[in-house]
Amino acid sequence: MRLIDTHSHLYDEAFDEDREAALARAAACGVDCLLLPAIDSGSHDRLFDLVRRHPGRCRPMMGLHPTSVNDCPDWRGELALVERLLDAPPAGIGRFCAVGEIGLDFYWSADFRAEQLEAFRAQCRMAARRGLPVTIHTRAAWPEMCAVIEEETAAARSRGEELRGVFHAYSEDAATYRRLRAAGDWLFGIGGVATYRRSKVAEAVPEMALADLVLETDCPYLPPVPHRGERNESAYVAHTCARVAELLGRSPGEVAEQTARNAARMFGLAADEPGGRTEGEAADSGRPARPAADDSGRTTAETMNQGTPKA
Ligand SMILES: [Zn+2]
Repeated sequence: MRLIDTHSHLYDEAFDEDREAALARAAACGVDCLLLPAIDSGSHDRLFDLVRRHPGRCRPMMGLHPTSVNDCPDWRGELALVERLLDAPPAGIGRFCAVGEIGLDFYWSADFRAEQLEAFRAQCRMAARRGLPVTIHTRAAWPEMCAVIEEETAAARSRGEELRGVFHAYSEDAATYRRLRAAGDWLFGIGGVATYRRSKVAEAVPEMALADLVLETDCPYLPPVPHRGERNESAYVAHTCARVAELLGRSPGEVAEQTARNAARMFGLAADEPGGRTEGEAADSGRPARPAADDSGRTTAETMNQGTPKA
């Protein structure tokens, strides 16, 4: 069984004692690829170090987290750095697979709404311009997020670009899923919260199409059952896979395979594998290969059953 953890902070201090062991445990559970979201310049070196040590398995994103907009007085300087790094990744990093994690978080403070909105919209545009997906963090800001996504997705389309990506740690209901799905090519990152007995997302998953889902941990945060209260780690994505399989009435193997395929499509992961594209393509744009529409794995039956609008 092959799993992809589409949201892992394995470079966090929480793993300083046993990072390599945690990676080995992930490999033993079939987690052969970890996507690493950036937070801000305070942790770039840790992120880059891990990618340099495990270039095939650990794939970097680049972006400014919304709570770092609150905490960094020079957040505009941070945004400029994100853009510079997207265009010129440091040696040994390869390309960034997404602009992330970016988004809106009004949970800790609502004092920086305007700044967070500006940073988020700016990064959506950076991604669309470069043909990269975004990885989106949303907390206590879902109504605002839905409105911005509808606007920015449409605005990108009118510029001849495409804004697409993943709602990381999706925690909303089926109606919000359908609304966001209708806006464009959006996937939904399902994490440990889906294993909790009473969670909105566990109720939503049976109404979501498997072709719209990717799996993630958000480790060291949000551990799935049976590890609640412990530090989360990438190996535990297997528990979330099992729970999603149960909720959808599928086998864990089927969920693992399809969600890995969804992630590979969205983040252009296959294109990074040897022979996946030519030297020239890789060098000239840094863009992920855009797969054919029928690579998405969406079937007509699935789309109809789930009431999911087509892309
Ligand atoms: Zn995160």
